Amino acid sequence: MSDHPCPCASGLDYQACCAVWHLGGSAPTAEALMRSRYCAFIRKDVPYLIRTSHPLLRAKVDVRQLRQSLSLEWCGLVVVAVAGGGPDDLAGEVHFRARFRHAGKEQVHEERSRFVRVDGEWVYRDDRGTLNRAASA
Ligand SMILES: [Zn+2]
Repeated sequence: MSDHPCPCASGLDYQACCAVWHLGGSAPTAEALMRSRYCAFIRKDVPYLIRTSHPLLRAKVDVRQLRQSLSLEWCGLVVVAVAGGGPDDLAGEVHFRARFRHAGKEQVHEERSRFVRVDGEWVYRDDRGTLNRAASA
């Protein structure tokens, strides 16, 4: 049992998991980066979210939208599918579902995020499709 389970649901302790990337390490895969960004939303680590966005996105990060996401109560992450994004890849896609509570109702944010490597580091590129809906169960 972990004393401080990582919010990304890896089953690892936070210190042995996303903290390594939040403190300046380079996430080795697109999935690790995606999990660490979900974790950064929970920890309201805005500098990390900006640092791990594609340089083209950094300048136009919508702070109001970001704050809105940060204010949500995130309550679970499931990685549905991963394509590419491995240690030897230059691009990858991670399909995930994140549960959150808003106005007393549990909802699901489902997204297919695209990640690319820039100067060797994985960064979030864009979103190939987002679906928000009420949690079914
Ligand atoms: Zn983690």
